[in-house]
Amino acid sequence: MPATDHAPEIDLDALRARYARERDRRLRPDGAVQYRSAAGEFGYYATDPYTPRREREPLTDTVEVLVVGGGFGGLVTGARLRQAGVESIRMTDEAGDFGGTWYWNRYPGIHCDIESYSYMPLLEEVGYVPEWRYAPGEEIRRHAVAIAETFDLYRDALFHTRITSLDWDGRAREWTVGTDRGDRMRARFVITSSGTLTRPKLPGIPGIEDFAGHTFHTSRWDYGYTGGDQDGGLVGLADKRVAVVGTGATGVQVIPHLARDAEHLYVFQRTPSTVDVRDNRPTDPEWAASLKPGWQRERMENFLAVVSGEPVETDLTGDGWTATARLQRKVVSGALDTSVPPQERERLDELADARTMDRIRARVDEVVDDPATAELLKPWYRYMCKRPCFSDHYLQTFNRPDVTLVDTADHGGITRMTRDAVVVGDAEYPVDCVVFATGFDVGVSGVLSGALPVRGRDGRELLASWSRGPVTLHGFYSPGFPNLFHLGALQNANSVNFAHILLEQAEHIAAVVAAARKAGDVVVEPSPEAAEAWGREVRETAHDNCAFQAECTPGYYNREGAGVHGGTSYSPGPVAFHRLLGRWREERLHEVLKPGD
Ligand code: NDP
Repeated sequence: MPATDHAPEIDLDALRARYARERDRRLRPDGAVQYRSAAGEFGYYATDPYTPRREREPLTDTVEVLVVGGGFGGLVTGARLRQAGVESIRMTDEAGDFGGTWYWNRYPGIHCDIESYSYMPLLEEVGYVPEWRYAPGEEIRRHAVAIAETFDLYRDALFHTRITSLDWDGRAREWTVGTDRGDRMRARFVITSSGTLTRPKLPGIPGIEDFAGHTFHTSRWDYGYTGGDQDGGLVGLADKRVAVVGTGATGVQVIPHLARDAEHLYVFQRTPSTVDVRDNRPTDPEWAASLKPGWQRERMENFLAVVSGEPVETDLTGDGWTATARLQRKVVSGALDTSVPPQERERLDELADARTMDRIRARVDEVVDDPATAELLKPWYRYMCKRPCFSDHYLQTFNRPDVTLVDTADHGGITRMTRDAVVVGDAEYPVDCVVFATGFDVGVSGVLSGALPVRGRDGRELLASWSRGPVTLHGFYSPGFPNLFHLGALQNANSVNFAHILLEQAEHIAAVVAAARKAGDVVVEPSPEAAEAWGREVRETAHDNCAFQAECTPGYYNREGAGVHGGTSYSPGPVAFHRLLGRWREERLHEVLKPGD
């Protein structure tokens, strides 16, 4: 929203003080260790409820390319490699099928909050136009399966298989790949796309294990207990008092369904989300019929440009994300507005932020009948401190007589659980079932977390070689680790439409693999100098996000108040990065092709 001179005055000092009070009220001394992973004694919260696990013999065969992860990153990479003529591709995933996050998350009400026409990759290649502007999860999961079928990626796929080690065999010039199924496979190229929000986490509530009623996490929905499906109809809850813990992006989508079907719903809230207008609608068949070849690429690029602050003539999407582009650049890497001096830019950012948040708080008053409940639902922090949410049903839910909002902020969350109740302060809420919409451990899978140990040339460990920070060229590959590629935001690009970033990464990797195959007896490996130079460029162009994050209310974006989470992406933004990569492919790709040694 532009900062015009006619807009009402906003007392920024008072607002800052209010935000600081809310943050301080929420800070907990135990920060990120307050949670419990769905592992060990809580491992049953993470088991696969959707596909039975089948026994199979361990494999010792060789493939040309092995892909770790069957979500959209792995799928689009597999697709582009097929198109580049690679026949021998083995896709692997811990899940029972393709889809990644859309495989696991099947809770009632699940939708993607990025417009489907830009989010769902390879629509034109698969020959599909989404049915809705914002697609339901099941449509997206089916599209993931359709990509796999279109590009014949089921052929050598392994599901319910976790890759546990990667060792470079310099003599054979292949990776040896170990798994939790006892496999000892070989692959010339390995591509990792393990995702970030993969393992469900539970709140560290004292007594959680004493609760004798039914519990599950939203990412492993128990339809056997609730009945119904992703569209609702949870008839099993008709005589149940249900508690839901968590009001993040998942909670906001699932709560209206639980409210509709449970006998009574208790919503345990610690921090309210920002909930803006959704405005979902079915795809207009006339519009779909009018689409010309290349339409999806154009729309994706337009969305990326708008949210990254690049100049565009028309905003083709025109939704809550593109309207708040200025505010997203603080957190998601993007080009800063250089048309004004930095101090003025800060002031304009803060004003735009305050106006957006005022509008979102005013919407709560408009929708929620009870003023006390409305007050509790108002978010008091800057816009991108938490993942923005969109819903035309969530706030309305709190007007129902069978829904109770229980605010836990003053207690740092739920106080404890007993055999049959959830307790906040001194108040006990007897319930039959507790649904945890409490999110995920961040970055616990894949090579960055150490969960997948990688030993490259001379047995050197990848994380040991990164002990002073990541050493990559463009985030994709590292010296000492030939023919190994990573997808992800680290030293690469980032955007709220991460599916687009993954597609660009897939195309880049496919181009490099194709060049290596054409060259014959080579490995793909950047020089230490090239990786060093790239690391320097990422550091030197990085904009400092720390002050913004420090003022934010706690959450996984700022490691529960401890600071910025994760590594750094290329701050000039994804559009600039993709331009840079395109030039590199034309002029310098040969530099990473090394004669086999
Ligand atoms: P989040 O981590 O965003 O939310 C977890 C929720 O649980 C928060 O409301 C948190 O409160 C609450 N919570 C945690 N511990 C306690 C406690 N002890 N007592 C009370 N409340 C507690 O997880 P989500 O699953 O909602 O979302 C994770 C991510 O998944 C999103 O950020 C987004 O990236 C993605 N997503 C994307 C969607 C899409 O449409 N594209 C849809 C859904 C999810 P507090 O905030 O106070 O910590």
